[in-house]
Amino acid sequence: MRSKDIRDLPQVKPAILQERLGKGKARCLTCERRCILGDGEYGFCRTRINIEGQIYTMTYGLLSAVESRPIEIKPFFHFWPGSTALTFSTWSCNFRCPWCQNWGISRILPEPWKGTYTGPEEVVGKALENHDEGVCVSFNEPTLLFEYSLDVFKIARKKGLYSTYVSNGYMTLDALKMLKEAGLNGLKVDIKGSKKEYLKINAADVDVVWRNCRKAKELGIHVELVYLVVTGATDNEESIVETIEKTLKELGDGVPIHFTRYFPAYKYREPPTPIEKLEWAYKTARRMGVKYPYIGNVPGHPYENTYCPECGEVLVKRYGAMVIKYRLTADKKCPRCGEHIPIAGRPGRHI
Ligand code: SF4
Repeated sequence: MRSKDIRDLPQVKPAILQERLGKGKARCLTCERRCILGDGEYGFCRTRINIEGQIYTMTYGLLSAVESRPIEIKPFFHFWPGSTALTFSTWSCNFRCPWCQNWGISRILPEPWKGTYTGPEEVVGKALENHDEGVCVSFNEPTLLFEYSLDVFKIARKKGLYSTYVSNGYMTLDALKMLKEAGLNGLKVDIKGSKKEYLKINAADVDVVWRNCRKAKELGIHVELVYLVVTGATDNEESIVETIEKTLKELGDGVPIHFTRYFPAYKYREPPTPIEKLEWAYKTARRMGVKYPYIGNVPGHPYENTYCPECGEVLVKRYGAMVIKYRLTADKKCPRCGEHIPIAGRPGRHI
């Protein structure tokens, strides 16, 4: 199908955030790559195309997966514990991590002329049918479903569902603000190392990600961080300590950080992260003042649990994505010492 014709497809819609530059060029303002596209050109993520001087998204309702998943698997440990979110994604990414754990989706380019279309009402309807407490855009970078997310979130809010993103946090501030206005309640951000690793691996600026985390928190969005400890790439102590320092400085001591175990995937073949390295990151974060560090992708490890930062009591016991025991009081306090624990939302139907 020629590019002029694809505008007739339901998955192809004018991009909301763009700037016309004249002479057939336009700048995409959805993420901080801020690609400038000439007529007929694609953006870095290949989900956006310039047709006759206007940028179009090609992923509206073009979904690669739709399924109900526990919120703990995102991971969100301090947000609607024990709930499930109807989780959906499209294709491609605006980053190029060589160890991408979801490369079967993120490295495939969208082809709206071949794919199916799922309307926003249909996604929310499926969440209600499954008795999910919320929706989540995940698996690939959700910012690439920006226009669709806005429409889904608005409908989800009307139906009493929460809305979440599992993201690299590289959207523009305008995109973040619009997501909040549409109903974004929770943002899980992957921190992919230090400043030098962002530049080297993704030609990206980590300061943008920290700015967005800070802004999201200011806007009242619940924020959690994940740091994938990749063997030989992001497992150096300097980068981990820098991330902990930044978290404390930008977000305070109450934002959870999950140090997750990497497994070989896509183009990267180094061995999985040693458990001792994850434990070191956890203990270092705790010692430096982070109240809620976790380790991830190690089911059954005691550092998957939530402990009271004051008295050490086990408050939430988990096994992988499952909550085994939930011991907080109705007003979210430690039953032993009364310390208030920051948990957004209320316990879901699996508590
Ligand atoms: S969303 Fe895609 S086209 Fe737009 S700025 Fe980001 S990478 Fe470029």
